[in-house]
Amino acid sequence: MIEFAEADEREEWEGVGPLLKEIVTYAHDNLWPAGRRFIVSSIWRSRLENAKVGAKTLIHTVGPPYRAVDADVCGWSKAEIMEVCAAINRRWQYDPTRPNIPAAYGEKHGTGPHIHFQVHANTVLVT
Ligand SMILES: [Zn+2]
Repeated sequence: MIEFAEADEREEWEGVGPLLKEIVTYAHDNLWPAGRRFIVSSIWRSRLENAKVGAKTLIHTVGPPYRAVDADVCGWSKAEIMEVCAAINRRWQYDPTRPNIPAAYGEKHGTGPHIHFQVHANTVLVT
């Protein structure tokens, strides 16, 4: 079950773009370690909120459709986080013209450790 940290995220989930929803749902259904809850911790942020959590990009400030979703990974090992991200990045390419930018990566800022999922207009399923 996909859970939401607060009512805000539950509402914002409705505004998440279809491809990003597909990626997050895939992670939940196929990649999440057994026994770990899937809690969406952030979707949209104001520019002020974004700066306060130390975000490196503005992707959480755009939309709807929203282009980024964070899922809480408090207490996870680095290996667990990297395994989920690697599987997502094998399956989806964020932007074929900028292959260095991943569709999923682990982050520590703001409300705590999370996996950040993101999409671009060019994001494609590769496998
Ligand atoms: Zn994020």
